[in-house]
Amino acid sequence: MLNLSLNLNLPLTLADFFNSLPLTLQFTHCYGEPMALPHWKIGRALGIPIYVHASWFVVFFLVASSLASGYLPEMLPGLSVPRYWGMGGIAALLLFLSVLLHELGHSYVALRYKIPIKQITLFIFGGMAHMGKEPPSPRAEFLIAIAGPVVSFILGAICLGGVMAVDSLFARSGFQGLVVLGGLLGMVNVQLGLFNLIPGFPLDGGRVLRAGLWALNKDFNRATSQASLAGIGFGVVLGLIGAVLMVGTWSGALGQSIATNGGWLVFIGIFLFSAALSSRRQAAQRTSLTSVTVRQVMVHRVVTLRPDTTVQDAVDQFFVPHGFSGFPVCEGGQLLGMVTVRDVQALPVALWPWRRISEIMHPVSQAYCIPPDWSAIQAMERMIQNGSDRLVVMEHEQIVGLITRSAIANVLQLHGSPSR
Ligand SMILES: [Zn+2]
Repeated sequence: MLNLSLNLNLPLTLADFFNSLPLTLQFTHCYGEPMALPHWKIGRALGIPIYVHASWFVVFFLVASSLASGYLPEMLPGLSVPRYWGMGGIAALLLFLSVLLHELGHSYVALRYKIPIKQITLFIFGGMAHMGKEPPSPRAEFLIAIAGPVVSFILGAICLGGVMAVDSLFARSGFQGLVVLGGLLGMVNVQLGLFNLIPGFPLDGGRVLRAGLWALNKDFNRATSQASLAGIGFGVVLGLIGAVLMVGTWSGALGQSIATNGGWLVFIGIFLFSAALSSRRQAAQRTSLTSVTVRQVMVHRVVTLRPDTTVQDAVDQFFVPHGFSGFPVCEGGQLLGMVTVRDVQALPVALWPWRRISEIMHPVSQAYCIPPDWSAIQAMERMIQNGSDRLVVMEHEQIVGLITRSAIANVLQLHGSPSR
């Protein structure tokens, strides 16, 4: 059980446990989709750019101020106010470092599996490592997910072990400040590890759950959907516990300090709930795209351009009248390349009559082609990989169709999102 007194031998009650929450916060964190809010790059680690999101500063201030005005004066009486704030600031920075190391734990294992990590962002709920793709196997998923909490537990053990050693060796000496900060940091790391092991996706524990379900049923999307359902459930539970704590405080049954914890839990519950809900929706979309083949979605009558057509003619006779944003370029039944509106736009208008399509097209590669019996989700993944919004459908070295992102989006809208 958690001992939050930092004396390491005081009895612990549930009230003590909840009292500790505003100090340490509880970081729901996950790795997944990048966020659109302002963030700043502060450095690199393992070759990964590290960003701090605007909302992190709220956490920094909350932690520093709650330590400086409540916790530290209580634990270490008789120091000056600037000293408390200095220590509060240092503790907040060390907390920041703890979250970062937790994320680097995930990232290190992910990189071993050749999964690119685009960036790590620290934000109000902790940290997030943005993975470039999904783990290749349940085993990879499990190891990547568990690495973060393992790092947190190791850090926690080092801090608490160090504090106990210092405490027993130099009792009542000038190390009290160090002991208090070290103990606090140790507890924060242990809590960080424990909290993230809650088995609701997209928390680490939810990813462990998904790895298990994935290994069991051999169905990644279904596992995501089920683990997300657990995430939705835990989001609701956390929110309800928070609400009960808040009501208890207002009715006078619980101490005033617990109101903040209740509010924070509600906040986290909502965050987990919405993250899990969107993961479940995405899994449902992927599932419906898995059952649709490229042939079912593709355009059968493909309009192609000839390589010697001038850009001006292509615009006047193809782009404008057909309204498509891209065309395959063919000659004698052979696919040579693809040309899109973006390629045309990159060329100054004055040059349009003087340049030929062959000069601005992307030479064709396997990346721009797909067989008709592949699934729509595979087409989508290929488009995302090569940054294109259309693929040429090839069968027996013949063009048989064209599949576009917008056609796939239409299928999703028509089919809706079947839920499991
Ligand atoms: Zn984690």
